[in-house]
Amino acid sequence: MKKVFIFLGPPGSGKGTQTSRLADKLSIPHIDTGSLLRKNIQDETELGKIAKSYIDKGNLVPLNVVSSVIKERLMEDDCQNGYILDGFPRSIEQAQALEEILSQVGKFTLKDDAMAIYFDIDNELLIQRLINRRSCPKCGTIYNLISNPPKIMDYCDICDTKLTIRKDDNEETARARFKTYENETAPLYDYFKQLGILEELKADGSISEIWENLKEIVFDE
Ligand SMILES: [Zn+2]
Repeated sequence: MKKVFIFLGPPGSGKGTQTSRLADKLSIPHIDTGSLLRKNIQDETELGKIAKSYIDKGNLVPLNVVSSVIKERLMEDDCQNGYILDGFPRSIEQAQALEEILSQVGKFTLKDDAMAIYFDIDNELLIQRLINRRSCPKCGTIYNLISNPPKIMDYCDICDTKLTIRKDDNEETARARFKTYENETAPLYDYFKQLGILEELKADGSISEIWENLKEIVFDE
């Protein structure tokens, strides 16, 4: 079985949920690059301080800094049996950086040990999902009025707080974000396909349907 999983899924595709489920099932960590960077900044690690200096100036954290953060993470004990990468790589340049990181860590390679899972999902469905997303301002639980509705309309199941719509979940922003995602992902799709590690996941269904499809890909391979 593969050890390194790279998820290529647009926002609103349920990627986060599937990633967590797979991480639980395989007892491997789910490494979300955004959270990882934030944690480094919060903990004021050396790399976190460097990353913060860029963010404070309104700049993107450079790839070599992101790579170092990821590399450190991949060398930790809980990564020895594999891991799921989320939010990285997002470009060919980052994919090449990942190959470099893996060769430095020396445990896994993209070609032999990785699987890139591409969420195959209808664009319009995705945009509808984004628009129908609601979150709880108190406990942070995310709902979707279509695919994962709260038991009582507009109220959090867990803490009964009125749900809110995130500012960037309106249609225009949703379409723009999707376009960005498509532009980023198309080259990566080809890159992973050429490496022979790309798997397409049917992701139009419910959370449990997608999960069944995902298990098939991961375990029947
Ligand atoms: Zn809540």
